[in-house]
Formats: sequence, structure tokens, C-alpha cells
Amino acid sequence: MYTTRPAEFTYHRPASLDEAVALLAELEDARPLAGGHSLLPAMKLRLSTPAALVDLASIPGLAGIERDDDGLRIGALATHAAVARSEAVRAECPALAEAAALIGDRQVRNRGTIGGSLAHADPGADYPTVVKALGATMTAVGRGGSREIAAEDFFTGLFTTSLEPGELVTSVRVPAVQGAAYVKHKHPASGYAVVGVAAAVSLEGGACTRAIIIVGGVTGMPVAASAAAAALEGTPGSEEAIAAAGARVPEALAGAIGDTYASAAYRTHLASVLARRALAVAFERAV
Ligand code: FAD
Repeated sequence: MYTTRPAEFTYHRPASLDEAVALLAELEDARPLAGGHSLLPAMKLRLSTPAALVDLASIPGLAGIERDDDGLRIGALATHAAVARSEAVRAECPALAEAAALIGDRQVRNRGTIGGSLAHADPGADYPTVVKALGATMTAVGRGGSREIAAEDFFTGLFTTSLEPGELVTSVRVPAVQGAAYVKHKHPASGYAVVGVAAAVSLEGGACTRAIIIVGGVTGMPVAASAAAAALEGTPGSEEAIAAAGARVPEALAGAIGDTYASAAYRTHLASVLARRALAVAFERAV
């Protein structure tokens, strides 16, 4: 039966992180609620039927964005709009602010949070691709205490992460990276990434010492186009070098997924094109 009403659940609004962690551990089939812009639609369609929701909104200190010598620490409850307009994010890591500004529409950006987006791990989401390219680290807190999870270990598949049940993302640490960019082809209805590519490069003496290319939207989770990135090392990031790297991006996309909007072959082609565009901006910024 098709329904737009969620199944019954109990609602809890803890006032502290400790209380939230305890509730998530004690309540049967409990899920954290942040902006609700992925969880509630899934509940209304009964794709998700948690018995209890633990709303994180009243927990103090989870929405801040701080800048220090090592980069940025972004609280899990920072909304996409807050990340997009943050002076600190725009200065330290413009690619992240640009990605946040490209998410959905104004309503989604005003409610959705970075922690919720990362924990949800939607293959069409923007942040997972970007945080992986930036080498970000998530701080997670659960009954067992606090731990750091590198972005490359955080995403484990379609809508799945290495978070343990009941574990909460509390913040994201993003190292200062200037030579980075994110480019996406939006789905015209939702704004989700049909394909999104993030690139990060480092230069020394005019030559590329390290390049990272992450492709989102094409496979079940963001994937590194490692051979393409390696082809850039030692080059000045010239048009020819970028074109050669872009041509190797499909090597990483053997598991490409297609749907009614975009076939796997089209997504793979777009990934090459967008990788070239992202790399061109990343090299410009790295100089
Ligand atoms: P919620 O919906 O509250 O939660 C999502 C999941 O994460 C749930 O399983 C929840 O239990 C869990 N969770 C939430 N917070 C935490 C936490 N701190 N720790 C652990 N688990 C947690 N996204 C894009 O990236 N790009 C787009 O273009 C885009 N377009 C959209 C368009 C529409 C119309 C809609 C409705 C959504 C769109 N989204 C898009 C998704 C949007 O960004 C969501 O806000 C985001 O995916 C989830 O964040 P949230 O705070 O709303 O999380």
C-alpha cells in the first residue's frame, strides 16, 4: 500500500550529547534525527520505520564552525546554508562552501545538516564526495566513547557507513586545502548529483606533487579515480595533462549505475568531463 504517513514512532528530544547517546543505546530501534530532510521522506514512504526518533536539535555546541591553524571543525548540526555562507569555510576551503551552496533548494539547505548528510551516505549527495577529496575526518561519539574516522574509511557502500549503531557524528575536521574544487551535474528536479567530482591538488615548484579525484553519483559510494590522479603527478597541471587525466577517470568506474534519468555510460562520460573542469579550478587555486 502506498502511504505518505510515517509508521508510529516515539519522539525524544535530549538536552545533552550524553543523554542522546544513552537514549540511542537504550531505546529499541532508535534513530537520530537532524534536519529530517532525508529521514522523514524515507519514513513517509515507509522505506524507514524506526520505533523512536532522537532529535539532536536541542544539544548545545553541535552547530558551530571553527577555524584554527589546521583547518576547520564543523559541527554535525551545521546546516548546508550555514556552511555555504561561513566566512571561515569560504576562506579556508571554498570547494566545501560551493558544494554546500549547490545542495537541493533553499528549504533543504536551511534544514539539512552536514552530519545528517554524511551519515545518510546517499550516492547522489554532495558532501561525501567533497570530504573524501579533502581528506576530512569525522568525530563519532557512542557508548564506547569518541573516535575519529577518516573519510576514506567512513563510507562503506550505498547508504552505509562505518558508524556503529547508536553512534553519532558530532563534527567534521577539514584540513586547510586551497587547491580544491567541486563540480556537479544536478538532477533537474531534486538537485542531487547525477555526477559530482571533487578534485584536490598540491603543487611544489610548479609541479603537481599530489592529486586526488573523487567521483560521486556514479557508483554506490564516492570512488577515487586513482590512476587518473596519479597521471597528474609531476605535471604542471596543463590543459593536456588535465585532459589525459580526465580520459583515465572511467577506469575507476567499473561499477557505474544507471537509472531512468542517466545511463551508466552517460554518467561515466560526464565524470570525465566534470573531472577536467574540477581539476582546472583546483590547479588555478593551488598556484
Ligand atoms: P536527517 O534526514 O535528519 O537524517 C539522515 C540520516 O542520518 C538518518 O538515518 C539519521 O538517523 C542520520 N543522522 C542524522 N544526523 C546524524 C548524526 N549527527 N550522526 C549520526 N547519524 C545521523 N543532498 C545533497 O547532498 N545534494 C542535493 O542536491 C540534495 N537535494 C535534496 C533535495 C530534496 C528535495 C531533499 C528533500 C533532500 C535533498 N538532499 C540533497 C538531502 C539533504 O541534503 C539532507 O538534508 C541530508 O541528506 C540529510 O541531512 P539531515 O540533517 O536532513 O538528516
